[in-house]
Amino acid sequence: MTDWCDWKWQFRNRIRSLEKLALALERPVASLAPCRPVIRSYPLAITPYYLSLLDPADEKDPLRRQCFPDPRELSFSLGGMTDPLGEERTMAVPGLIHRYPDRCLAIVTGDCAVYCRHCNRKRMWREKKPGGVRERLQAMVDHVARTPSIREVIVSGGDPLLIPERMLDWFLGALQAVPHVEVLRIGSRAPVTLPMRITPELCAMLKRHRPLWFNTQFNHVREITPESAAACERLLTAGIPVSNQSVLLKGVNDDYETMRDLLYGLERISVRPYYLFQCDPVRGTDHFRAEIWTGMEIMEKLWRTISGLCLPRYVLDCPGDRGKIPLQPFSLLPERRDGNIHSFEKSPQMD
Ligand SMILES: *Cc1c(COP(=O)(O)O)cnc(C)c1O
Ligand code: SF4
Repeated sequence: MTDWCDWKWQFRNRIRSLEKLALALERPVASLAPCRPVIRSYPLAITPYYLSLLDPADEKDPLRRQCFPDPRELSFSLGGMTDPLGEERTMAVPGLIHRYPDRCLAIVTGDCAVYCRHCNRKRMWREKKPGGVRERLQAMVDHVARTPSIREVIVSGGDPLLIPERMLDWFLGALQAVPHVEVLRIGSRAPVTLPMRITPELCAMLKRHRPLWFNTQFNHVREITPESAAACERLLTAGIPVSNQSVLLKGVNDDYETMRDLLYGLERISVRPYYLFQCDPVRGTDHFRAEIWTGMEIMEKLWRTISGLCLPRYVLDCPGDRGKIPLQPFSLLPERRDGNIHSFEKSPQMD
């Protein structure tokens, strides 16, 4: 049981092959043959921890859907793009995306503990980056240093918590030493897929780099477990606010009750819902994309019924400098054309 709680053991023992997956499923490996070309394009990785949360026999399991390869990943009926946000074009230096004037996003690795099948950067999983990691990170620091408009750096990936801890410590310190950098942010799904990675030592290191914000990605209430809650608690105790960015995923969380339960669950563990992303038109994710109107209906009902602390902003990420566009349920406004909504004595909802 001590191994189970060791993140390195979890990482080493990830399911990476169909043979191992078949064992977990208790099915003959031949039955997974349609998945073989899928994992050649988009590799497979599931931690034993995350696997333990799902029902491998249930194809509809919302956690299984997020991590099991699916032949639909290879059907590009909607003409999905590998890089719909044009991130590669907006890279200031390799791995550094600078789309907004005041903040930039550093992709420090393409590796993740679990490869989410809905990932919008799944194009990166197989890429081998040229040159050493240290040199790439140094080039990012140099770009940030010569760009005074940048006041916040988002350290992301992939999962930035998978590079050596001392290198991450150095990188955060080097960024912080830039006079115009005021705030750092980490984007990592480790609290959800590999919660044992959030060790007391890691938290002590991150604490030294405050103000530092931490964004993670819970997509379903069943991902909120004693382990993941404790991981968030360790960050919070270190003075690091934890926020959540979910993706609206068909068959995972695209109905009101499921989303409400997730948001309530996040509030219970003091993790602030930040964004709900409309799933980008990334190649290999068509089967996950819910209609925007489905998302709008869910958001509208949530606005009417649940605590404001539980409400994320529902956004659509667009290429280039349009960035994230809020998708707001406007039908909550009373219909009145003169613009003076305060003159209403009775809102239509009350009828
Ligand atoms: C989403 C994103 C950010 C962060 O945007 P916030 O609205 O501050 O969360 C920064 N850079 C890029 C390239 C992004 O896609
Ligand atoms: S953790 Fe994030 S970057 Fe990694 S596979 Fe999942 S969605 Fe993609």
